[in-house]
Amino acid sequence: LSTEALRPAIGIVRVSRVGDREADHFFSPQDQKARMTAAALPNGLNVIEWIEELDVSAGLPLRRRRGLRRGLELIELGTAQVLLVAYFDRLVRNLGVQYELFERVQKAGGAVYTADVGEMRIDTPAAWLSSTVLGTFAEYYRRMAAERTSAPKKLAVERGVPPFPKIPPGYRRAADGRLEVHEAEAAVVHKAFEMRARGEPLLTIRDYLASKGIKRTYRGTQDLLESRIVLGELHFGKLANLTAHTPIVELSLWKQAERARATAGRRTTTPRLLARLGVLRCGGCGSALTCTLIANGQGKRFPFYRCGMPADCTGRVSISAPLAEERVVARVRQELRDSYGSASTDARLAEAERHLEHCEAELDAAIDVLAPVKDRPSARRRLEDLQTAVTSAQDAVARLRPAATVARRYSAVGDWDRLSFEARRALVRAVLRAAIVRKGRGADRISFEVFEQ
Ligand SMILES: [Zn+2]
Repeated sequence: LSTEALRPAIGIVRVSRVGDREADHFFSPQDQKARMTAAALPNGLNVIEWIEELDVSAGLPLRRRRGLRRGLELIELGTAQVLLVAYFDRLVRNLGVQYELFERVQKAGGAVYTADVGEMRIDTPAAWLSSTVLGTFAEYYRRMAAERTSAPKKLAVERGVPPFPKIPPGYRRAADGRLEVHEAEAAVVHKAFEMRARGEPLLTIRDYLASKGIKRTYRGTQDLLESRIVLGELHFGKLANLTAHTPIVELSLWKQAERARATAGRRTTTPRLLARLGVLRCGGCGSALTCTLIANGQGKRFPFYRCGMPADCTGRVSISAPLAEERVVARVRQELRDSYGSASTDARLAEAERHLEHCEAELDAAIDVLAPVKDRPSARRRLEDLQTAVTSAQDAVARLRPAATVARRYSAVGDWDRLSFEARRALVRAVLRAAIVRKGRGADRISFEVFEQ
């Protein structure tokens, strides 16, 4: 039998997180590969790529299953035809994900094979029943195991004992497992929050912490300044204990630091679809239009989007808010129909996440390498460039993450009118780089720049 006669398959190896292993019969990656290799040829399959998911729970949503997602994308691209796993529960233990996975595989003309059960399908009632029954049991075992392991965690959080190993600076773990304040470090952490509240850049704060012996990555510095542990709170998943230990940062300061890190004007209370999204732009000066009420001759006020920088702007525009929203929504829906599947948004999110990791690693490496000469202008510039790259990569992920969720929901709901207000905003932001408004009246006074697919 030549390999051309065989169907190209992607072999998926998954090993769960330690906490889930109670539910999983532990099979090493080698066991799993051997089992798949043995099953491949008799079933007419040729494994063209192995994908390993290590420390990955089978209960995770698809967006957090990078490996499985890649396998699925290879099927959707036509590179492979079959997803192969050693045991059904290596694939998935989440009925929602299972359903989406099988649907997409089937839609792409592919198949799912498990070495223990054989080909799994959902295209006949009997096939659907058997795969759903298997999936139900797989999810049931995962839920049972989660319940068994979550009870001690719940107790720990209630007692104020962090059920995780990493303790942030400013605290030490006491003999009873709870956190006690480390005075010297706590003062340094407090100072870091003060610096952030004043708007000082993360790099400066990171340097300051390092000078006091608290070494953190760029991301770690960011995490520390967002952590609620310093407020005396303990959070673990959905569990929370708001008076777990002594706070080392007061709430007002924490909030000031939070405001400093939130991009000005990102939040909105105005219930207008495009308010403060930064998508609608002035054709005269390029600045973002702001939403405002403009009175007519009779004193009745109507919502408009208007250029907010009249001094610099030579062609200041304003446009009726409902009109602009209608045009923008029409264009976004058209783009969603034509060039967005949940698959492509997922792929772009995965790419953006990879890029972010890369940028962060580069920045951290540069910080270490340039540490001895960091006060030289060239080193400063290099660090600032890398920091800018991290920030823009973070923005891309922040933009795409809700979009990927929403695109998935949108492809499931398929109906704009049934989406929530926030979901619509996320989609507009994900699809359009800009909608530029020029003076005039016609339908073409708004031109669109869409994000490349
Ligand atoms: Zn303008």
